[in-house]
Amino acid sequence: MLLDNTITELGTLLRSKKISSRELVEEAYDSIEKHNGALSAFITVREKKDALCDADASDASSSRGPLAGIPFCLKDAYVTKDLKTTAGSKVLDTFVPPYSATVVQKLLASGAILIGKNNMDAWGHGATNENSDYGPVKNLWDTTRVAGGSSGGSAAAVSARMAAFSIGEDTGGSIRNPASMCNIAGLKVTYGRVSRYGAIAYASSLDTVGPMAKSVSDIAEILEVIAGVDPKDATSSRREVPHYSTLLEKPLSGMRVGIPKEFFAEGLTPEVRDIFVKATRMLESLGAQTLEVSLPSLPFGVSIYYLIAMSETSSNLNRYDGVRFGNNPSFFGEEGMRRIIIGTYALKAGYHDDLYGRALKGRTMLIREFDALWETCDVLLGPTIPTLPNKLGDLSENTMSAYLADAFTAPVSLVGSPSLAIPAGFSKSGLPVGMQIIGRKFDEATILAVGHAYQKATDWHKKKPALLS
Ligand code: GLN
Repeated sequence: MLLDNTITELGTLLRSKKISSRELVEEAYDSIEKHNGALSAFITVREKKDALCDADASDASSSRGPLAGIPFCLKDAYVTKDLKTTAGSKVLDTFVPPYSATVVQKLLASGAILIGKNNMDAWGHGATNENSDYGPVKNLWDTTRVAGGSSGGSAAAVSARMAAFSIGEDTGGSIRNPASMCNIAGLKVTYGRVSRYGAIAYASSLDTVGPMAKSVSDIAEILEVIAGVDPKDATSSRREVPHYSTLLEKPLSGMRVGIPKEFFAEGLTPEVRDIFVKATRMLESLGAQTLEVSLPSLPFGVSIYYLIAMSETSSNLNRYDGVRFGNNPSFFGEEGMRRIIIGTYALKAGYHDDLYGRALKGRTMLIREFDALWETCDVLLGPTIPTLPNKLGDLSENTMSAYLADAFTAPVSLVGSPSLAIPAGFSKSGLPVGMQIIGRKFDEATILAVGHAYQKATDWHKKKPALLS
């Protein structure tokens, strides 16, 4: 398939007119027709004729950025002008936004072709994508299993070649978790690296906008387009945006890779641990120097994260009062209600200091522990999620186990660091396993370089689900 190629390769083929954007878009829609019924990767698919019309315009145009003519999709957490946007919740089932998010505007301006809006856990609440009001997303590697969450539709769509890439959203793991479960790459950017304007807010001090694609080089190409300051988002950073795609070829020799020993916690599935250990050996063979380090507060990360995330979401969701956005607030599902109630409780006078206030102190402790490690490490390495992709239904009745899926990702979100999830191997049963490379704030370039070096030496990311062949 053409969509097996990297974005750089597709760009070269497009510029030399060996292929057309129309062909790429046709291929994406063919795959949607074949697989979306089984996977539920989309909530809204754009009219094919509109996407083809954009593709023809791109084929006719001579100005070509790296994403021109490339089909992409978006987690349904980003508002799109004149195209329904639900955040995975029936509360917004009839919401057609009057404007587009900054990330959408940037991608459209770069000439990328929008295919549709991906399924997601309602409001970003979830780790398995079973908490969507539009049905669970299934994993193409085994359709009896979940695709991960909350950006599960994005990961499923990319792994099924329904687009070349998707934009996900990561608050506590929602890009990294489904990327790992579906054998693709996903980047949680530094908080503030990409504008959140037009992103439907989950937890405002944690939400990040990031790319999901088949390879690290694709991620670099996309990040270059979407990163940067935005006057409409006061938390977006003014730091210059490096040319990530030209900084990928960094030798690993001498690179100091810290491995926090707390990642080897009780809940870590032995098969996931073994695959992770093998991946660290591979990085060593490429010249990296690994060292055991410690983040003593890491085991408290999930509790700290959920107190803060629920407090913030209870505040963010109170705008959906049925007055401004059409539908009835009683359409909130069980998980949404749970989080609103717990968050409101944690912020209540009398409980605030004990719950929310203590969580904030815990967050500061974690930030200090991570900061101290940057004296001796260039990057940190860990498994992305402690388990293999779960069977559908396994976690939907077990809220605590579902929250523990974020044990390794949520602490990184609390400190604001960037983290890149990439494929690291397969279980005996053929299920994908990922790992995450964590960097200093705003040092996406280094984690991308490490991920790229690993992908040049391995071919896990090139493996395709049997259903695609
Ligand atoms: N699973 C986590 C949660 O439910 C993370 C979600 C996210 O990153 N959007 O909060």
